[in-house]
Amino acid sequence: MYNILIVKYGEIGVKGKNRYLFENKLIKNIRNMIKHIGEFNVYKEYGRIYVDIEDYNYEEVIEEVRKVFGVVGVCPAIKAEKSYDKLKEIALIMLEKNIEEGCKTFKVESRRGDKEFPMTSQEMSVDIGAYLLKNLDGKIKVDVRNPEVKISCEYREHHTMVYSKTIKGYGGLPVGTNGKALSLLSGGIDSPVASWMVAKRGMKLEFVHFHSYPFTNERSQEKVLDLAKIIAKYCGKIKLHKVNILEIQKAISENCHESDYTIVARRFMMRIANKLAKETNCDALVTGESIGQVASQTIHGLTCTNAVVDIPVFRPLIAMDKLDIIDISQNIGTYETSIIPEEDCCSLFAPKNPTTRPTIEKMNLAETKLDIDKLVDEAIEGRESFYVEFE
Ligand code: ATP
Ligand code: MG
Repeated sequence: MYNILIVKYGEIGVKGKNRYLFENKLIKNIRNMIKHIGEFNVYKEYGRIYVDIEDYNYEEVIEEVRKVFGVVGVCPAIKAEKSYDKLKEIALIMLEKNIEEGCKTFKVESRRGDKEFPMTSQEMSVDIGAYLLKNLDGKIKVDVRNPEVKISCEYREHHTMVYSKTIKGYGGLPVGTNGKALSLLSGGIDSPVASWMVAKRGMKLEFVHFHSYPFTNERSQEKVLDLAKIIAKYCGKIKLHKVNILEIQKAISENCHESDYTIVARRFMMRIANKLAKETNCDALVTGESIGQVASQTIHGLTCTNAVVDIPVFRPLIAMDKLDIIDISQNIGTYETSIIPEEDCCSLFAPKNPTTRPTIEKMNLAETKLDIDKLVDEAIEGRESFYVEFE
C-alpha cells in the first residue's frame, strides 16, 4: 500500500543560505545507500525529500534510508492524485492498517498545501475524522489528547498524501558537509564507534591502521578491514591506510625503558597519523580514547600523546562509559566483529608496569636516542592504501 517515503531531516533545516547544498548532499547520500536495492527516484519538493518506492519492499528501503546521516525520520506514506475523496479513501486504508496492528485510538492531523481549497486544515481534520469513524464501525475511537496513532493527511497542490508512522533515523549531518578526518582504527570496540560518531556530524573519513606484520597476523588486518567496511556502509567508500610499525617498535624496545614503551609507541602512531593527515588533506584526527580507560588514557598519557600533533584530535568517546560505547557498537553493527579475539600491535611490546604518570619532558627524554623523523617517514613510505566499500 505504501508508494512513497517522506524523509524528515532536522538540523540541515537551519543552515540558511547553504541549505540547498546540504539537501543535495543528503539526496545523493540517500541514493547511494539504496542503489543496491534498486533504482529509486529520490527528489526534493517543497522543502521535503521523497523517495518513490512503488512495489519495493518498503521495510528494506526504510532500513537503509534511516541509516543515512542527516535523516531524522522516515515516514512510509500513501500518495494519490489530487482529490479530496481520494484523500479520505487513503486515510481509511492507513487507519485500517493501524487497527490491524492493534491500535485503539486515533486523531487526524491535516495540512493544506493548496490555499484554494475551501476548508481550513482544522475543518479537514474534523471532516476526515468523522468519515473514518463512520466507516470503521466502532473499531476505533478518537482521542485528540493522547492518540495511539496520528493519521497525517495532506492536501497538496498536485497530490494528496497520508502517513502515520515515523521510523527514527540517527540524525546528524550529511557526510561530506564538514571536511575530512583521519581516524585511527584499531580492531577494538572503541575506534569504530568514535569514527561513526564523527562521520555522523558530516565529516568524511579516511582510516589509518597500525600493525606489526609478521608479528601480528594477517587475520588481525582482515578484521580491521571488515570493521572499515561496516563503517563504509554509513559513509560511502573510505580510504584505508595500513602502516607497519614493527621497525619502530623494535627501535623503541632497544632504546627506551620498558615502562615507557606504550606511550612512546602511541606518540609514534600520532606523529604518523598527523603527517599522513596533512598528505591526504584531512583536517583532524579521530581516536577512540576515553578518559581513564587504560593506563595510556589517563590525562597524563593523553597529554603526552597529544603533544606531538599540531592538528585537532577528536575524541568523541572521551567522557563515555564502556557500556554506553558497547551499546552504540551493537546498534551500528560493529560489535560482533570488534569482539573477535585477534592480535593487536599494542600488546606486542606491552610493558608489565607502564608508567602511570608520564610527562612530556620524560617522554622527550625517553625518545632522545630514536631518529624520530626517519622512523616516521619510513613507516609512511611503506604504507598500503586502498579504498574500502561496504559489500
Ligand atoms: P579500541 O577499542 O578502539 O582499540 P582501546 O580501548 O583498545 O581502543 P587503545 O588500544 O589504548 O584503546 O587505543 C586508543 C585509540 O588509539 C584507539 O581507539 C584507536 O583510535 C587508536 N589505536 C590504537 N591501536 C591502534 C592501531 N593498531 N591502529 C590504529 N589506531 C589505533
Ligand atoms: Mg585497542
